[in-house]
Amino acid sequence: IKSTSLAIVIFGVTGDLTRRKLLPALYELMKAEKLPEKLHLIGFARRDWSDEFLREKLQAGIEEHSRSKPIDPQILERLLARTHYVQSTFEDFQGYQKLSELIKGNRIQNVLLYLATPPEEYLVIVELLGKSGLNKRENGWTRIVIEKPYGRDIESATILEQAVHRVFSEKQVYRIDHYLGKETVQNILVFRFANAIFEPLWDRRYVDHVQITVSETVGVGTRAGYYDNAGVIRDMFQNHLLQLVTLTAMEAPVGFNADAVRDEKVKVLKALRPLRGKDAIQNTYRAQYVSGTVDGKRVPGYKDEAGVPPDSVTETLLAARLYIDNWRWAGVPFYVRSGKRLPTRLTEIVIRFRQAPLSLFDWHNLAGDAPNTLVLSLQPDEGIRLEFGAKAPGPINQIAPVNMEFNYQETFGTEPPEAYERLLLDCIQGDATLFTRSDEVLSQWAFTSNILEAWQQFPVRNLPVYEAGTWGPPGIDDFIQQDGRQWRNPSGD
Ligand code: NAP
Repeated sequence: IKSTSLAIVIFGVTGDLTRRKLLPALYELMKAEKLPEKLHLIGFARRDWSDEFLREKLQAGIEEHSRSKPIDPQILERLLARTHYVQSTFEDFQGYQKLSELIKGNRIQNVLLYLATPPEEYLVIVELLGKSGLNKRENGWTRIVIEKPYGRDIESATILEQAVHRVFSEKQVYRIDHYLGKETVQNILVFRFANAIFEPLWDRRYVDHVQITVSETVGVGTRAGYYDNAGVIRDMFQNHLLQLVTLTAMEAPVGFNADAVRDEKVKVLKALRPLRGKDAIQNTYRAQYVSGTVDGKRVPGYKDEAGVPPDSVTETLLAARLYIDNWRWAGVPFYVRSGKRLPTRLTEIVIRFRQAPLSLFDWHNLAGDAPNTLVLSLQPDEGIRLEFGAKAPGPINQIAPVNMEFNYQETFGTEPPEAYERLLLDCIQGDATLFTRSDEVLSQWAFTSNILEAWQQFPVRNLPVYEAGTWGPPGIDDFIQQDGRQWRNPSGD
């Protein structure tokens, strides 16, 4: 890798993702000496910028958003030494010709095309990349990274898939779900498959149910235009939540390589019991936030946010009950939920084990079940906690819930690196394990689209509302309590 020449072409180089995530990640990779010395950064967007101005902007973005500070000017220079800007709209074929000449003129071997653009632009970009011959190289590789959202239902995802495959082979395509780049998400597989002691418990015989929570404290911010058409189901469920379900539920792969891992993930998606019609209504719960207090600050309700239509029925909180109909998980519910303006920002997988077959002891200060619970905390307090019962001191046999805990930062003395660092490096190295395969994304959409169709078929008249800064309306508690279970809300709720 070091001795080859590489162009990273960023479509949408003037945008937010490039500034906040991609360039800071590339800076870290350059610092770690993971990038070729002959690196060309080529930006493609509409604004009237020069090569020099792009360079200044990229530098400013790195200085503001990098995780390692202060910035080393020599590393910055190595990263930005060959920065080029192609000013063009994505619809203009001439822009692609200019790009092609730039790549040829600089005798660049390998090309990584990164679509950091509005998703509506993917189709035209892919088509014109094909038309201009930028989809392949004679003496090197061409790969394309496509950001989420990858489609907005099964029909549009299928159309996009067909367009992409007319121009690129599956081996060239890297569909990003940046959740998979997080160390703690990868650690789900390490935890499960590098240790022999948990796997025997990881099934319907010992697990009562699984809860997966992805909560945010932020509201829609400036993204109302996108969000109101997406809702939690497209923004979080189809991608991140289903990724976490598959990683938690999959069988051990036959090897740790892209196809072996993704084969097992796809099997889980195929085994998900479809939620169609009334089943979808019964097994999902939606709500929308109204004004409230988050982190001590008064915040507006969803409908009062700039750009949200006053009659919007878009859900900002979603819970779903999923069943995986295979031998390992038959009958074990997976409760997943995600929402905006919740009390705390976290991503957590909770494995709740069955109770001991016979209750011999009194539980001290404990309402409900005995807490044999394993918590995989993916962010922000990255770590793993096993909760179990221990004898409380004293002459009587009272049992108290206690924890065994692993904390990522305490143990390794460092915060996990940013997801984009790992993912960009993997693309450059040609490892697609942490990217979503074609059949995987289509299976995710097939499952999700059934729910979307049911919601259209049975429209809600009054979407339940919750105060910003709470875990949702009472209905979300009833949703799980009707099964005799409770959400495990982190402390402070
Ligand atoms: P953004 O800030 O709106 O940037 C869009 C970029 O596309 C700009 O560089 C813009 O160029 C360019 N562009 C749009 N239409 C164009 C056209 N017709 N011709 C030429 N250039 C055009 O978007 P973003 O937030 O960076 O997001 C990019 C993608 O990443 C989206 O798919 C998003 O869903 C995904 N994503 C973003 C984040 C994030 O944190 N931002 C996180 C996860 C995923 P001009 O400025 O020159 O008009």
